[in-house]
Amino acid sequence: MKAEENDLGLDVTLVTTLRGIGTRNAERLARIGIHTLQDVLFHLPFRYQDRTRIMPLGELQPGDQAVIEGVVESADIHFGRRRSLLVRIADASGSLTLRFFHFSAAQQAGFASGSKLRCFGEVRKGPGTLEMVHPEYSRIDGQQPMVAAETLTPVYPTTEGMHQLSWRNITDKALAILAAQPHRLPEWLPHSLLQRYRLPDLASAVRYLHRPPADAPQVQLLEGRHPAQRRLVFEELVAHQLSLGQLRLRRRQVTAPELDGGGVLRQQFLAHLPFALTTAQSLVAKEISRDLNGNHPAMRLLQGDVGSGKTVVAALAALQALEAGYQVALMAPTELLAEQHLRSFRRWLSPLGIEVSWLTSRQKGKAREALLNALAEGKASLVVGTQALFQEDVSFGRLGLVIIDEQHRFGVHQRMALRHKGSSGGSVPHQLIMTATPIPRTLAMTAYADLDLSVIDQLPPGRVPVETVVLPATRRADVIERVRAACARGRQAYWVCTLIEESEVLECEAAEDTAVQLGQLLPELRIGLVHGRLKAVDKEAVMQAFQRQELDLLVATTVIEVGVDVPNASLMIIENPERLGLAQLHQLRGRVGRGATKSHCVLMYQPPLSTNARERLAVMRESNDGFLIAERDLELRGAGEVLGTRQTGEMQFRIANLVRDQGLLDEVREAAASILQEFPERVAPLVQRWIGAREQYIDA
Ligand code: ADP
Ligand code: MG
Repeated sequence: MKAEENDLGLDVTLVTTLRGIGTRNAERLARIGIHTLQDVLFHLPFRYQDRTRIMPLGELQPGDQAVIEGVVESADIHFGRRRSLLVRIADASGSLTLRFFHFSAAQQAGFASGSKLRCFGEVRKGPGTLEMVHPEYSRIDGQQPMVAAETLTPVYPTTEGMHQLSWRNITDKALAILAAQPHRLPEWLPHSLLQRYRLPDLASAVRYLHRPPADAPQVQLLEGRHPAQRRLVFEELVAHQLSLGQLRLRRRQVTAPELDGGGVLRQQFLAHLPFALTTAQSLVAKEISRDLNGNHPAMRLLQGDVGSGKTVVAALAALQALEAGYQVALMAPTELLAEQHLRSFRRWLSPLGIEVSWLTSRQKGKAREALLNALAEGKASLVVGTQALFQEDVSFGRLGLVIIDEQHRFGVHQRMALRHKGSSGGSVPHQLIMTATPIPRTLAMTAYADLDLSVIDQLPPGRVPVETVVLPATRRADVIERVRAACARGRQAYWVCTLIEESEVLECEAAEDTAVQLGQLLPELRIGLVHGRLKAVDKEAVMQAFQRQELDLLVATTVIEVGVDVPNASLMIIENPERLGLAQLHQLRGRVGRGATKSHCVLMYQPPLSTNARERLAVMRESNDGFLIAERDLELRGAGEVLGTRQTGEMQFRIANLVRDQGLLDEVREAAASILQEFPERVAPLVQRWIGAREQYIDA
């Protein structure tokens, strides 16, 4: 078999050339992204079976997966609820029943009394004795070696039609090739780094994980903490880091308009604001201003807890671009949020003589055409909208700055697409990305290593922390009385409906039912309803009514999660909070506590709560600090949740897991930096090995 190498020396030999793998299996492998020898070698078992020892029957426990040997004592068909063949076997220490629901006459005949069997299967409690249902088995004649298998038996994640035996067969072949031709899987991590971090070399790690020795620490392997696993994780994370670093470098080779706006508009704006910026806002605004003054495209992630005042900072950035004569696009993930930005920006900027345009996918016909023309000619200077801003037919004449709110809903590919969108004549607009999802710093530095980070780590003065109580749904009547009392004092309240089922339709129906029911129980209140299936205009009308205090109680689904700002609202009820991530709960809760009065949040769960859910809700009760909550969320749930669900698709690693492997991140960054410095020629092969190939296939 001839190996093919591409220009980076990466072995791209297709699996089809592994002898014995038919086209059918190759197709199945391709479906799960396995194309090359290396892909096979990196497809690791997720657990192992111990078939290296023959277990005495008398020592078996239910739940064990074990190899056993015994002599057949009897084989009878049993006519119970289901017809089954029961084969009783025994050794010196005890006995066990093999149970078959499907069997042929020939199979039955094979279980002659006195014949000796070796079986593998899971032990469970039967009606009388322990049993194995449909074990793997073979007859033995006494000539077999004492040991059943020399290594632990790998169990691979698989795909339809591929059996574990095929996997073992394929990986056997791949490992044989690796042994004969070690250069087919080159070591790219420098020896000095392997020594420094005490990591095994790549080939040994791969071999070990596919065929661990009989005495390998199974628990450590299951938890993904074995040095051989950490070795692969380490390399993957280093590659990821290097790849994002390359994106960052590439940005330095591109030019962007220098937005040196003088500052008159910004001064006027600040003078009109009814409050002074917090120190944190000023610092961050300066960082952004410096970015925009540069002639390379800025890409900055602005993190700030809910209510920390990111919008004002965004407005300052927008004004700097406008002063310099460039266009600004502000994009939000939902219409509701985009509309709110539209209102804020119009309120703040109309007095300065700046017109704010509005674009969503709903706009059609003449009005849309006129706006698109104005954008293309660079006449419409500031536009607010949803993703619609970056559809095919939208082009900008002089786009200088793109602001994206609530970044956790967008992934790395969208970030890149947006940059292309705004570029013209070799110049690329600056990008400012805002998120209220506080991402722990080490995690952010890995997940967003291509971005610069700023954090607003301070809330505007006078905010009173929200007090949170956790109550079972059996206290619903009390909770309703609480709503009545709060509204009687002139305050407003939110009632957030979430469902156990992940279904928008059902969630909207639940919100409708709740609104009707609360209407009957609280007839004196003016109640509004918003959910994701309302028309945008209707939603907007309800939100505005709530904002103008024409409604007392707003029943809503989680559509109000992001950004909605009504300072007079001081009570929030969240149903089924146990099904939401802590970060999302924190976002929701951030809708209250925006004014000077004490606000309350009631987390009304459906009992009984799991231990983990109880712990998570306790975190909400005890803390109002988004970063602390994010750290705990990370421990209790997983990185995907912290980064936002949609982000997870973007952040997929083959082997690494940001939560499990957090502890490696500092060393990973250090290692990536030293490779960049001392072994720059290894950067490309590493990136290609772990990331490049996948991008290639995504494009195809
Ligand atoms: P977020 O960071 O969650 O997007 P917003 O920008 O919506 O927060 O701001 C929340 C509220 O705080 C708004 O009503 C805003 O006008 C107000 N705000 C922002 N900055 C300050 C400040 N420095 N002092 C007082 N209020 C502020
Ligand atoms: Mg906001």
